[in-house]
Amino acid sequence: AVPAFPIDSTANFPPVGGNSTGRRANATLLMLARNSDVQGAVQSIRSIEDRFNRDYGYPYVFLNEEPWTDEFKKRISALTRAPIEFGVIPHDWWFQPDWIDESRATEGRKKMEEQGIIYAGSVSYRNMCRFNSGFFFRHELLAKYRWYWRIEPDVSFHCTLSFDPFLYMEAQDKVYAFTIALYEWSATIPTLWDTVKDFTKKYPETVAPDNAMGFMSENGGQDYNMCHFWSNFEIADMNFWRGETYMKFFEFLDKTGGFYYERWGDAPVHSIAASLFLPKSKIHFFNEIGYEHPPNQHCPSDDDVWRKGMCGCDQSKTHDYGPYSCQRQWDRIFH
Ligand code: GDP
Ligand code: MN
Repeated sequence: AVPAFPIDSTANFPPVGGNSTGRRANATLLMLARNSDVQGAVQSIRSIEDRFNRDYGYPYVFLNEEPWTDEFKKRISALTRAPIEFGVIPHDWWFQPDWIDESRATEGRKKMEEQGIIYAGSVSYRNMCRFNSGFFFRHELLAKYRWYWRIEPDVSFHCTLSFDPFLYMEAQDKVYAFTIALYEWSATIPTLWDTVKDFTKKYPETVAPDNAMGFMSENGGQDYNMCHFWSNFEIADMNFWRGETYMKFFEFLDKTGGFYYERWGDAPVHSIAASLFLPKSKIHFFNEIGYEHPPNQHCPSDDDVWRKGMCGCDQSKTHDYGPYSCQRQWDRIFH
């Protein structure tokens, strides 16, 4: 089928609704999913189209370590006029590398299972976290794009956007944006922070002046407070991940095997990198983007923002300043 709009996302899109200029960023809406996620994927795409993309026509990229089924492609393609590409992930970017000591990895999974940690025994979850940490932005289907908005199956967008978050980030010189900040399960990352400290000791020049360390530590970096941005939502500049500092950082983490011996998530990995290697002014909290990934949601608590966005979400359920939230740690670094 001929795509309704050119794959080149910078090509103009007819000005309509919230998109009053017809200008777009070089950006894509990105989803990693399994074929079995089709129902949740349909739900998420319906939601982002309804609240944002039907006025913008940003192209989609779907990635999977297995070939996509016709069923998945058909049901997703029915939902939008925007171009869609379905890609497969190269084998070595997904599966556990040969140099991982399998008995040590098995032992690590067993130990974590005994602690009742979610996905403790799952190898595929670890593959996913490692792929999202170090590989997705190198995929050939993403090479033509600078910006991505990560979307997962079974998420909802609760407010109509009256602006383009990609263009906003470009204009404001932002690199990484989030909607929910929370605590990580420490049992999933016992040695991550020590590894990070080894890295910054070895490469002190990678640490940005005026970084967001204050978001992640209560004692100037000695200990990690487990705060991170919830990476199932991300709008970010892939040039940051593709750059020398982050690539070096990822390789350094990866070769410890921590993605498999422990269960390092892409959320703390991305968050720590953004918070250390960027000035804090380049990280952005999108209050206007009502967003839900069960069990958490961000719903704008300011009535004017909530009304303007026709949000409809339950403001009392917003995660912002709840007991598991790290929004306070975020706020304090700007005061
Ligand atoms: P959670 O949000 O941490 O509970 O983890 P999810 O199950 O939502 O997984 C995170 C993202 O990775 C989602 O976009 C999933 O569709 C995707 N994902 C998780 N495991 C796999 C997998 O084994 N294969 C593929 N292709 N995608 C996966
Ligand atoms: Mn998820």
